[in-house]
Amino acid sequence: MGIDVDQRFEGDSGWYAALAALDWQVELGLTDVISEVPVDRFALPEALPRSELQSHTRPEAIVSRDVVAPQIVHRETRADPGAALALAVEAAKAAARAAGSLEALRAAMAGYLHCDLRRGARNLVFADGRAGARVLILGEAPVREEDVEGRPFVGEAGQLLDRMFASIGLARDAPDLRAALYITSVLPWRPPGDRTAGADEVAMMRPFVLQHIALAAPEVIVVMGNTAFFALTGEQGNLTAQRHGTEALGLPVLQMTHPTQLLRNPAAKREAWADLLALRARLEGGA
Ligand code: URA
Repeated sequence: MGIDVDQRFEGDSGWYAALAALDWQVELGLTDVISEVPVDRFALPEALPRSELQSHTRPEAIVSRDVVAPQIVHRETRADPGAALALAVEAAKAAARAAGSLEALRAAMAGYLHCDLRRGARNLVFADGRAGARVLILGEAPVREEDVEGRPFVGEAGQLLDRMFASIGLARDAPDLRAALYITSVLPWRPPGDRTAGADEVAMMRPFVLQHIALAAPEVIVVMGNTAFFALTGEQGNLTAQRHGTEALGLPVLQMTHPTQLLRNPAAKREAWADLLALRARLEGGA
């Protein structure tokens, strides 16, 4: 579409002013446009139907009101972030517990309004691969490519992950379930600028992660990196001392270096290869 030459010079709203504003933002370090429309973060949400509310708020939070959206509850507890987080975690536990299938869990996460990351993300990145696979891989959070595609581990780190597991005969889309992978991450929404997941975000999404693993029913959980290890076990990961020997949900946990780290530090691929061999031995019944 052509631009009327006169419109280019219309003061603050003209084309050149917009271009200059954009240049300025790029200079400040903006790398991505995460939405085509501005987000008003102060706008109050539409009132939600009572049935939806009940799955996201503590019953006592709605006793005296007919309709209270979860964000409003969140605002009321804003002065006390600890209470707000506790409320958000309780809501996550209730929503996750009520989900009896992976589809229901995905819907519950899509309807979970306490985690602000959802506002800046393009997609909810739920999982990929085959439910029922013997090995479940737990990552940390989507980055740009995953956010755009809505699937976990599809960027450069994901391609490395695929090659690593292919080397021991496992693939996310393997027709034989015994050779398949199921892949998910602690956070289903991309953190801005691909920053590390915050402790409050991990705490909120943890109930969904635990229910996700229970529903996917793997034999072994492979956690990628310290954040995922912490989200799963509640313990700080220690990749040098403690790669094997931990259990969560009654399942063996293998902690590996995140493929993003392996891209930065190829020397760590040596341990990763040893981990993959140990995993293969376990799956073949030898460990
Ligand atoms: N890293 C992760 O931990 N998860 C993804 O989905 C992508 C990259």
